[in-house]
Amino acid sequence: MKTIGIIGGMSWESTTTYYQLINQEIKKRLGGLHSAKIILVSVDFHEIEQCQSSGDWERAGEILAQAAQSLQKAGADFIVIATNTMHKVVPIIEKKIQCPVLHIVDATANVLKNSHINRIALLGTSYTMKQDFYKDRLLSNGIEVIIPSDDKIELINNIIYNELCVGINLDSSRKEFVHIIENLANNGAQAVILGCTEIGLLITNKDTKLPVFDTTKIHAIAAVDYALS
Ligand code: GLU
Repeated sequence: MKTIGIIGGMSWESTTTYYQLINQEIKKRLGGLHSAKIILVSVDFHEIEQCQSSGDWERAGEILAQAAQSLQKAGADFIVIATNTMHKVVPIIEKKIQCPVLHIVDATANVLKNSHINRIALLGTSYTMKQDFYKDRLLSNGIEVIIPSDDKIELINNIIYNELCVGINLDSSRKEFVHIIENLANNGAQAVILGCTEIGLLITNKDTKLPVFDTTKIHAIAAVDYALS
């Protein structure tokens, strides 16, 4: 079994989900007392968020590259970055390490292609929805991306940072998400990507008719696939 190096803490609310999902999947596949070989470096999300909001992606990239180097030095065979947004700085991280980064968009695109989905709604932070680093990678896999209107992007972003990342889970926010997803379905989306690792704490397949693709689950399963390959 390969050792999974996780860069977590962004936020820690979703890092705990990764830890559980990966171990549950290893147990399901190997049985008995098997558990995943994991090394975790958990950063201070306050520092990362300051870099994001001031646009200092270089600095954020350096912090995560240092985390990745520590993981590699400690024996990680590959790196899982437990956030969608910070995949923006993958090119900075990849320059500093030799082991591979298991990219969350590639894992998600594989699952979408297997499900024959080529027009997807994307929910995530405003960085993930508005900037190109995430959408372009889906597009290069032949998947067209639909995002909400600007006012809804702001609403979703506020719910992520002010509620989900600090452990607040409100029914009113769930209803807002469901309403936004229904609108995106009316605009032709065949399914929705929960493109932020905390959204799965609020929304599941049961809440909406549109099929839900939760990147946290997809990424965790992909990590197990790779660890056992
Ligand atoms: N965990 C979130 C994501 O998947 C947002 C927090 C962050 O900015 O990293 O994008």
